[in-house]
Amino acid sequence: MFLPPLQTLILRLRRPLPKTLTRRARISPAMSVNLQTHAFAGNPLRSKLARPAGPCSPGSALETLKSLLAAGADEASSPGFKVLAFRKGRPLARSLEPVSDTPPRWRLGWVPPSKFNDSSVGDFVYLGPGSEGDADTVYWAIDVSSSPSGVGLGGGGDDGLCFVELRTLMVATDWADTHTMGELAIAGHARALLEWHNVSRFCGHCGASTVPIEAGRRKQCTNESCKKRIYPRVDPVVIMLVIDKANDRALLSRQSRFVPRMWSCLAGFIEPGESLEEAVRRETWEETGIEVGEVVYHSSQPWPVGPNSMPCQLMVGFFAYAKSFEIHVDKAELEDAKWHSREDVRNALTFAEYEKAQRTAAFKVNQMCKGVEKGQNFSTDFNVESGELAQMFIPGPFAIAHHLISSWVHEGAPGNTELLPKQLNSVSNL
Ligand SMILES: [Zn+2]
Repeated sequence: MFLPPLQTLILRLRRPLPKTLTRRARISPAMSVNLQTHAFAGNPLRSKLARPAGPCSPGSALETLKSLLAAGADEASSPGFKVLAFRKGRPLARSLEPVSDTPPRWRLGWVPPSKFNDSSVGDFVYLGPGSEGDADTVYWAIDVSSSPSGVGLGGGGDDGLCFVELRTLMVATDWADTHTMGELAIAGHARALLEWHNVSRFCGHCGASTVPIEAGRRKQCTNESCKKRIYPRVDPVVIMLVIDKANDRALLSRQSRFVPRMWSCLAGFIEPGESLEEAVRRETWEETGIEVGEVVYHSSQPWPVGPNSMPCQLMVGFFAYAKSFEIHVDKAELEDAKWHSREDVRNALTFAEYEKAQRTAAFKVNQMCKGVEKGQNFSTDFNVESGELAQMFIPGPFAIAHHLISSWVHEGAPGNTELLPKQLNSVSNL
């Protein structure tokens, strides 16, 4: 699991924690460490310590998997293999029973390759070997959306396994739980790879079909005169908190697709020939008519739960300092945009609401895995139980927007070490 540089950790620990976090931090000292990693980052299968070599390397592991499938063999093999199945973008998951008053924790539903004997070896996508005590296991993903393979899996009930929306698992994740955060990152990486396979069936150069190579980590055009190699795609998106330094306020906006009362940062795609800073300035100007001067990098987050046409977005977060302050909202892009005082935004950071939403989602996953709850509609995400009806709220801690906004809100709080964005930038990538 990725850990931040010690210097970053010390600085972070000296920072003020939101009131409700402080209570939890006493229970779990790992809390503030864990907050160093955005949701979907810190995949333990991509740890620096894990060097896929020997029988666990993609090529060797694929050969072993091929012979296992041909022989219809069960689990006895070396290295061991574990497979994560997806159906319509949903990973197979299970749920542990709750202990005392803590909500149930979810886990990925790894199964042996023998469950997929109807599949060809080319359907499996290599995720990587385990690390530390798990180094002789190789992890794979497979999409069974339109395959007879894996039939019977994930019905909930007896086997305790269920295909669950990745967004639901994201909301159901206790962000203090390092293990579950690691599982979420693995699921995000796997989903991104499988979706990329779905949208790269044909060569963009000559139009011929493509086939997976390197155990599904790359693809290649089948046209002998082309043979173009195709690499997994990431779509960068700039996301920025626009700040009015002189008046101590920040610009938050609403899109019509947002759940009611949710306000967030501005965001937008980068155009060809444009730097990240230019994209921040252009998007802010286009959407709100505000001119931005200084642009300061904050952190980045993989986002594999965006549109299916984009297997994985990379959210690149910035503080953007405004030079003009009059708002002209582009109604085609935004429903509204307003300046909010630091105090108002601090009030919107009602952490209890996120915790309640997390508990609700965790129990829902538990019910789904028991076959009791069939519903999959979590369109309201973390807003499922916002009984307090605060005037507004901001996205939960699984989104980079939350961290951009809370970093600004807690910057310079009395009695605490102030971390200005530039200082953050110099010691940390988060
Ligand atoms: Zn081609």
